Amino acid sequence: SLQGKTALVTGSTSGIGLGIAIELARQGASLVLNGFGDAEAAKAQIAALGARVEHHPADMSRPADIAAMMEFAASRFGGVDVLVNNAGIQHVASVQDFPPEKWDAILAINLSSAFHTTRLALPHMLRRNWGRIINVASAHGLAASAGKSAYVAAKHGLIGLTKAVALENATTGVTCNAICPGWVLTPLVQKQIDDRASQQGISVQQAQENLLREKEPSLQFTTPQQLGQMAVFLCSPAADNMRGIAWSNDGGWTAQ
Ligand code: NAD
Repeated sequence: SLQGKTALVTGSTSGIGLGIAIELARQGASLVLNGFGDAEAAKAQIAALGARVEHHPADMSRPADIAAMMEFAASRFGGVDVLVNNAGIQHVASVQDFPPEKWDAILAINLSSAFHTTRLALPHMLRRNWGRIINVASAHGLAASAGKSAYVAAKHGLIGLTKAVALENATTGVTCNAICPGWVLTPLVQKQIDDRASQQGISVQQAQENLLREKEPSLQFTTPQQLGQMAVFLCSPAADNMRGIAWSNDGGWTAQ
């Protein structure tokens, strides 16, 4: 159980982050949510599970915002015991057409934000000699796709950061691991499906089928709830000695 523990999930107003927050709340954790969009609706979903919940609107591309969010978590809850670095964005274009400001934003949000939250969360975790740092990487942390240079570089980098943090704390009760989803039907992926449908003049349903067929032998989406339950497992005593792994849930994507 995560009773008495506080979890902070970045980018948890929607999609995978919200799914992970819900599963951690079901285990009794208090939650600090983060992200744009409808924060009140996300808070209401967590509160309905009986969990204490707050939201902080920090922009993960801004280190000063991240520091303010971590101070907020310390002042409201006494510190973060479970840190889930989940916030992420995507942009699809070939390298020569890739807007440099999009490159910078993706590296900042998908990779550097995890460095900042981690460096600020570790002192509290080490004082208690217990902590879980869970980085939401991707199948794109292990394999590339054309058109996703910034995302692939950031996610490979996030797995590298995961390993380094795991090793630095390997003799303590603080673990750091990555989860690597394949396709999950969230707003981030729905946009890619809609863009393919309009670019190729096909139906949204056909575009969705094609997207799965290209990468996932299972032809199925992974769900935010399934990923949340992986996070719950990583928080359990069974995972005390799992350190620095990149754990896939990708319908066979990276088995190929
Ligand atoms: P999503 O778009 O549904 O949710 C992204 C969340 O991040 C939202 O809460 C959004 O408000 C927040 N966010 C975006 N920019 C932010 C910023 N600058 N500061 C703070 N919050 C910000 O996306 P998702 O599909 O749930 O993705 C979540 C994570 O999972 C990402 O890291 C993504 O790369 C990863 N992932 C997604 C898939 C997939 O198929 N959907 C697969 C593998 C990995």
